[in-house]
Amino acid sequence: MIKRPDTELATTPARLPAWAFLDGKIIPYAEARFGLFTHALHYGTGFFAGVRAYWNDDERQLFVFRPEDHFRRFLDSARLLRMELAFSVDDLTRAVIDLLRKEGYEQDTYIRPIAFYGDESLGVRLHDLTPRVGIASMPTQFMDRREAHACFSSWRRVSDNSIPPRGKLTGSYVNSSLAKTDAVLAGFDEALMLNEAGHVCEGSVENVFIVRRGELVTPPLTDDVLEGITRATVIELATELGHTVVERSVDRTEVYLADEAFLCGTGIQLTAITRVDHRPIGSGTSGPVTTAIRDLFFDVVRGRSARHREWCRPVFEKARVDAARPVAGVGASG
Ligand code: PMP
Repeated sequence: MIKRPDTELATTPARLPAWAFLDGKIIPYAEARFGLFTHALHYGTGFFAGVRAYWNDDERQLFVFRPEDHFRRFLDSARLLRMELAFSVDDLTRAVIDLLRKEGYEQDTYIRPIAFYGDESLGVRLHDLTPRVGIASMPTQFMDRREAHACFSSWRRVSDNSIPPRGKLTGSYVNSSLAKTDAVLAGFDEALMLNEAGHVCEGSVENVFIVRRGELVTPPLTDDVLEGITRATVIELATELGHTVVERSVDRTEVYLADEAFLCGTGIQLTAITRVDHRPIGSGTSGPVTTAIRDLFFDVVRGRSARHREWCRPVFEKARVDAARPVAGVGASG
């Protein structure tokens, strides 16, 4: 049975997927079942990725956004957990494409690869354990939120010397969940977290940027943040738009005094923070820098920017047939 959480940004599939990739094979989703003693269930000894595929209706094609970059980070997380996976970046990208073809989605899709120690064996450790690798997908349920009211969480972000945030480790999402639920129950949309040194690091599952004194500023990767693929995308797109992007530590009060601020990540995509702790940021609406980057971002992820087409992996060998209209070429939509 599917239980739907009532928070706005929660993402429970309306129906479970038909298929899953598990340890090299595509099998019925319902057959991917694990026992109660599964190591990762007890100790959080796993990691995951969150990838999106965007439907381009002009081209009748589904594009997976930067899967290789997601899987490079996935394999970094494997190394942090001393896990040897039998799959390369290319194998995993291929697996996503095969899975999406099998599901046949003609709509925006969210893809969740996960690897974990799957032995039914207790005892905290990272050695003498067997990795399992799965991938499942679902039509996206995420709200396309344009504006958010955030608060600074009283929870500190896990640090590189406790549970490294550089990896997307399942166990560390207890930290994100504590911050997120407290924020939502207090009436905010999202939590911003400080690291142990007191610097702004990220949202519960998003990287953060501010615009201040003409510069776009984001915390550096050494301030306990995930090496976000959307963060890297935004840095590149903002630079192309002529903005100066600076990676440096950010104080809490710089966010209060910012002209603009936004969150970005595969789930939320790009959302303006228009208020923090009941203080308006800049004009209190999505500002011009945020809006311009957001507009370009959505063109890029849907494969509409020839310049960034290499980030978009087509799923189907041929454009999907739509009897109602002819298929447009790449250049047709910009
Ligand atoms: N920080 C955290 C803690 C996250 O979980 C995510 C989501 N993966 C992000 C940032 C954004 O990363 P990405 O752009 O790669 O999705």
